[in-house]
Amino acid sequence: MTKASSEPSFRDGVNLMVDRAISVMGLDTGVANAIKSCNAVIQVQFPVKIRGKIEVFTGWRATHSTHRLPSKGGIRYAPYADQDEVEALAALMTYKCAIVNVPFGGSKGALLIDPSQYEREEMEMITRRFSLELIRKGFLSPATNVPAPDVGTGQREMAWIADTYKQLHPDDINYVACVTGKPVHHGGIQGRVEATGRGVQYAIQEFFRHPDDVKMASMSGSLEGKTCIIQGFGNVGYHAAKFLSEEDGVKITAIIKSHGALVNDEGINIEELRQHIEEHHEIETFPCAQFVENGASVLEKECDILIPAALENQINLENADRIKAKLIVEAANGPVSFGADAILKNKGIVVIPDAYANAGGVTVSYFEWIRNISHMRFGRMQRRHEEMRGLQVTRMFEEVTGNSVSSHIRESMTRGADELDLVRSGLDDTMRTAYQEIRETMLSDDNITDLRTASYVSSIKKIARSYLDVGIL
Ligand code: NAD
Repeated sequence: MTKASSEPSFRDGVNLMVDRAISVMGLDTGVANAIKSCNAVIQVQFPVKIRGKIEVFTGWRATHSTHRLPSKGGIRYAPYADQDEVEALAALMTYKCAIVNVPFGGSKGALLIDPSQYEREEMEMITRRFSLELIRKGFLSPATNVPAPDVGTGQREMAWIADTYKQLHPDDINYVACVTGKPVHHGGIQGRVEATGRGVQYAIQEFFRHPDDVKMASMSGSLEGKTCIIQGFGNVGYHAAKFLSEEDGVKITAIIKSHGALVNDEGINIEELRQHIEEHHEIETFPCAQFVENGASVLEKECDILIPAALENQINLENADRIKAKLIVEAANGPVSFGADAILKNKGIVVIPDAYANAGGVTVSYFEWIRNISHMRFGRMQRRHEEMRGLQVTRMFEEVTGNSVSSHIRESMTRGADELDLVRSGLDDTMRTAYQEIRETMLSDDNITDLRTASYVSSIKKIARSYLDVGIL
């Protein structure tokens, strides 16, 4: 699904959405322009010898804002990457961090590459060379600019980046904080891989805690039993599908991949599907759902919740009018184009916007960065202490009542929180608080009638305050 030619570019689309929020706020034009402008962007081109031949690769890193440091944002490896997209994604990171109260500026990077065409050793050489370029040019360091995984990159690329930085800066005690999303044994944090999908789940859970909002999306009741279609079955799509179906009783009625979709109105078992893909590397022969060749058409199928978790501009002027979902949760960045956004709104479809919905990744990246610069795993100091206190309370209860506590309750009372518990708790709290702030922003002004505008207003207020506080403007 490509965007309709009459639509603005991704970057212009983000700016138009931000402009809408700025006009509602009546923000001073100078302040607004300062917030919107991209602080710096570099394009690098570098040669790498692959299979005896020299190939030249092109990459970008944009730093949208530095009002908080470091600037933060993923690195994407994709054959369609370009500077416009990188700048749009960097801007989204600025707004996203402010929405979820993560004290970072916004940044993003991309390398123009199809990773499926290269061997592991080749990817390592290319990644290390790209990192070298970014480090040398001041676009990668623990204090100023910290990448994370995005489309086409994951833990292994982050480990290579961290190691390259360490080779160049052996005297930087915080070298491991130069990138997040690393493997746990390499300075990563428990729960980072699942974080964005987990955050999407927490965002939807919080939405369903507000009956008025559920009603606004023409639904009622709880999350349990709601039907859901997910586009994209990578890191974000898989985890969102898994948690929503296994923990919230949501029925995943379709999964859309690049080359087709799987549909089952009774619900798809996500772990069975994952295993099938792992074994067969395709979805056509998955026995528990019907394969539909035209995957994009499945976006238009009836469902309660539609979660685009693949690419930008998937819901655009061409198909927006045919979308039948009641709630769209933007797990991907920019999956709904500016034009489509207005059409969906007219149809009464509620959109939980990307800048909030997929902020779980950067939130847990923030936890990882804090863990790295504090050089200690979360929970290390208090876990046994908590267990001891739990045991004391249990014993006291038994002494006072004369009843013994069941082994199930004893176990939960005497279990101290480990790192994963703390990460999930911190993420849940972050997603709940941010949603409540967005909601309050929407309810406080009659001119704000959608969650996206409310998110941007909430975010821009915080950014403007931080600019004005330090007297830059
Ligand atoms: P990924 O590379 O792990 O997965 C992307 C998936 O989308 C792949 O399975 C790919 O096959 C599929 N896909 C590509 N084109 C498609 C199409 N036309 N229809 C259906 N599926 C298609 O990437 P990811 O990390 O899951 O990221 C997905 C989206 O979420 C991106 O927009 C990314 O920017 C955003 N995001 C990711 C994170 C993160 O922590 N990984 C954080 C915030 C936002």
